[in-house]
Amino acid sequence: MHDSERLSGSLEAAGYVAAAGAQADVVVINTCAVRENADNKLYGNLGMLASVKREHEGMQIAVGGCLAQKDKNVILEKAPWVDVVFGTHNMGSLPALLERARHNGEAQLEILESLDVFPSTLPTKRESTHSGWVSISVGCNNTCTFCIVPALRGKEKDRRPGDILAEIVAMVDDGAIEVTLLGQNVNSYGVEFGDRQAFGKLLRAAGTIEGLERVRFTSPHPAAFTDDVIDAMAETDAVMPQLHMPLQSGSDRVLKAMRRSYRSEKFLGILERVRARIPLAAISTDIIVGFPGETEEDFQETLRVVELARFASAFTFQYSIREGTPAATMPDQIPKAVVQERYERLTALQDRISWEENQKLVGHTVNVLVGAEGKKDASTHRLSGRAEDSRLVHFEVPPHSDIPRPGDVVTVVISDAKPFHLIADSADHSPLAIRRTRAGDAWDRAEADSCGVPATVGSVPSVPGRVLLGLPTLRVSTAPIYDPSDGER
Ligand code: SF4
Repeated sequence: MHDSERLSGSLEAAGYVAAAGAQADVVVINTCAVRENADNKLYGNLGMLASVKREHEGMQIAVGGCLAQKDKNVILEKAPWVDVVFGTHNMGSLPALLERARHNGEAQLEILESLDVFPSTLPTKRESTHSGWVSISVGCNNTCTFCIVPALRGKEKDRRPGDILAEIVAMVDDGAIEVTLLGQNVNSYGVEFGDRQAFGKLLRAAGTIEGLERVRFTSPHPAAFTDDVIDAMAETDAVMPQLHMPLQSGSDRVLKAMRRSYRSEKFLGILERVRARIPLAAISTDIIVGFPGETEEDFQETLRVVELARFASAFTFQYSIREGTPAATMPDQIPKAVVQERYERLTALQDRISWEENQKLVGHTVNVLVGAEGKKDASTHRLSGRAEDSRLVHFEVPPHSDIPRPGDVVTVVISDAKPFHLIADSADHSPLAIRRTRAGDAWDRAEADSCGVPATVGSVPSVPGRVLLGLPTLRVSTAPIYDPSDGER
């Protein structure tokens, strides 16, 4: 998502505008090799775009991201109607590559093996007025055997703390009240400039930024998660009571084969120490089922650790081969039917735990940051947002209540719990307790600005000379490139 925002930002800075329902002149596909079936989906979508392009003279198609970094010229061999292929290290070159492809009348392939510009120095078009993402590092120094990231994104590169804080301040000045710090392994932040406690210090420094109410981060790594980070979380009001801590497997034998250097007891010890300091922390995780060589005993270990860990939620994945990773050629790949059956047992267990953990919150008062995506449901009169612990809350807007804007904060009492969300229906239909925020004001301004866009003819903006950007809408039903239900919950 963050890379896509940067791509939109670079293109808009170069004069492109979103197609907003019109036939796009430029289609950019940002790929992710980590996702299952990413290549099949890419080539399926490119096949569909070929016929759109035939009927829309001058249309350009660009493919970027980590699948492009991996496949390089294979994309142009399989889909010669693509105009630009770019990698993960040169997203900022996209406008220039599109221009060059147009001018030279031939496809442009540019893949760099290392970063020339830190991605966060590229312009970004934020999708939300109240929340933003800030990269603190890119790449990863670990070598997990199932993961393609080190091969595609390279060694960890840390951004200077001053640059990170300046970007957060700029976002806050722009109206954001929530920021998520991003890195493949956030708690190893600082290793490049020799400060092993840099991440905790960064959290504390972010917490002093005037107007910033919610700080989150993703993802840490259990091997290097130290107590100074837990202290910084507990002692910094703006750092939210939420932690995403990838387990991957509960079996020490499988963790070793995955080349993940912590063991299950260490993992559970981290959760215990986090909960000792932050009792209401909602902890989520990632788990892979069916890693090569995983036995029923190994899987039972995962179930045991999941039962003990009491995760609020989990992203569970069925292992599938990623070409180019060490695990791809390991013996004892697990048959699909076995993986599926284990996956179903794991998700049933986690669904039960998520529901039990959510039920503990019934009767609690929570502060919900109203989401941009929230539209009032006509039958339930509910809007949606995230509590401080990041749980999704659907709350009722009583008939005579003011309606909060996206970015405002409402204080509600949880009335019911489901496995994947909480409900806050009003007991007495009294008006909502709404705190109007700077983020809500920013949303108002953005709405007013969007009303000021040039008049449209039909659905096509009547601005001459501008190149429209987006996915085509004519005669095609566009399937998303990434299916959110892909082996992921
Ligand atoms: S720590 Fe994360 S990004 Fe790094 S190799 Fe392991 S799974 Fe991949």
